[in-house]
Amino acid sequence: MRDKIVAGNWKMNKNLEEALQLVNELKVANVDLTPKIIVIPSFPFINSIVNTLENSPIKVGAQNCSTQDSGAYTGEVSASMLKSVGAQYVVVGHSERRSYFNEQNEGLAEKVNQCLSNGLTPIYCCGELLEERESNNHFKIVESQINEGLFNLSESKMIDTVIAYEPVWAIGTGVTASPDQAQEMHAFIRALIAQKYNQQVADSISILYGGSCNPKNAKELFSLPDVDGGLIGGASLKSVDFMAIANSF
Ligand code: 13P
Repeated sequence: MRDKIVAGNWKMNKNLEEALQLVNELKVANVDLTPKIIVIPSFPFINSIVNTLENSPIKVGAQNCSTQDSGAYTGEVSASMLKSVGAQYVVVGHSERRSYFNEQNEGLAEKVNQCLSNGLTPIYCCGELLEERESNNHFKIVESQINEGLFNLSESKMIDTVIAYEPVWAIGTGVTASPDQAQEMHAFIRALIAQKYNQQVADSISILYGGSCNPKNAKELFSLPDVDGGLIGGASLKSVDFMAIANSF
């Protein structure tokens, strides 16, 4: 059966002291061992957080990586650097990077490749804008994001990916996708994978929901057949809320 996952994307929040305080709280919290729990801090904190979480089942991810291996790319961080400091996951193609940093599916496919070649699991994000849903283009948009960002992978690499469906209109807005909307899109994504690869591959990939997921709505979302957990923004910044979400399976 595929993994249940709850991942906290801290975005550009917290300083070192606050970051370590949060992971120390998570470390001693009463963790339900059903889901894999991942924290995703900013780059400068990854190493210290990995060390702090030694002997804990909580895993650490990064919010981005470079399309390049190494070299003259000032300000970039490579997948191999992330691997060397103990990260195990990388968020690729978050909607904030797509919109503020103009990241396109083609470059994201290169980032996915970088992750997989360096032994990191990409958490590949997809999701439509409000106007795309309102104009009934949401399936088409998500299909092209998945197609262009992931479907150049071989089957053996594809099974090492995680997908996050994050409708942009639900991110940080307090408006969550309804259970029907989430299930419908997750099932659609899984069907795309089955069509491109096969049902076994489709059934093995975890598809997370992201967008105003909180301790109140997590249980209902996570009970949906094609929702395998969540990528959590705001509610991952407080240990009680994040743990309540992790305990919602
Ligand atoms: P919020 O949970 O704050 O809506 O953010 C979701 C998100 O973007 C996670 O990557």
